[in-house]
Amino acid sequence: MSSRIFKDEGLILRTRVLGEADRLVTLLTLGGGKFEAVARGARKMKSKLAAGVDIFSCGEYTFHRGKTWPIITGQNPKERFLWFREDPELYPYGLYLAELTDRLVTGEEPCPEVYRLLLSGWWHLGENGDRVLALRAFELKLAHYLGYSPGLHFCAGCGSEHVCGFSPREGCLFCHDCRPADSIKLETGTVVLARRLLESSFQQVKMIRPSFRQKEELARMNNSFFAYHLDLGELKSKRLLKDL
Ligand SMILES: [Zn+2]
Repeated sequence: MSSRIFKDEGLILRTRVLGEADRLVTLLTLGGGKFEAVARGARKMKSKLAAGVDIFSCGEYTFHRGKTWPIITGQNPKERFLWFREDPELYPYGLYLAELTDRLVTGEEPCPEVYRLLLSGWWHLGENGDRVLALRAFELKLAHYLGYSPGLHFCAGCGSEHVCGFSPREGCLFCHDCRPADSIKLETGTVVLARRLLESSFQQVKMIRPSFRQKEELARMNNSFFAYHLDLGELKSKRLLKDL
């Protein structure tokens, strides 16, 4: 096989119109990280590629190295996560996972943990359960795998275990005595919840029953941390998910 041809498993994060009939797709691949590739003719009615290069598609793809972008020359679809397309309420949840991954994974460094996390997240959103909580778990895990994880165990000032506030700027927890002025107040249950979400599988996340207040505090913590440290810009999914 020529070195100009390569194969990889991939998840489609985003697609854009290119020229008359092509699509430019953003993939997160198992072996090659995130990159863009061209699906030639994918917008034609009879295209063999079309079905496998939609957002939420998962499959094995064959690429030919092109001058600007790799060109998708073959595909073996494994899953299309059709529930995101068929259920308008579910769609923004799947989109949020894709958009967050697209914004935070920056290059072609292989990141198989993130690949498996997204695949697992898309699977679990199709099942019953607290979807907002699954999204919070996804945020914490994604930040962890990419090395942005906020410290969730001890006071960053003195090392005390009795933490009660989170500073978005510092990205750390603090005790009552060390809390900076900008910190968000958290009850102990919220800190425990964040740790459990980070450490649990999505299957285990379904068993967790946090209080309304804990969920609210965690939303404030994650949103403020992401807003401060990661340039997410405007996400289409966030506009659709008003309760996020
Ligand atoms: Zn302290």
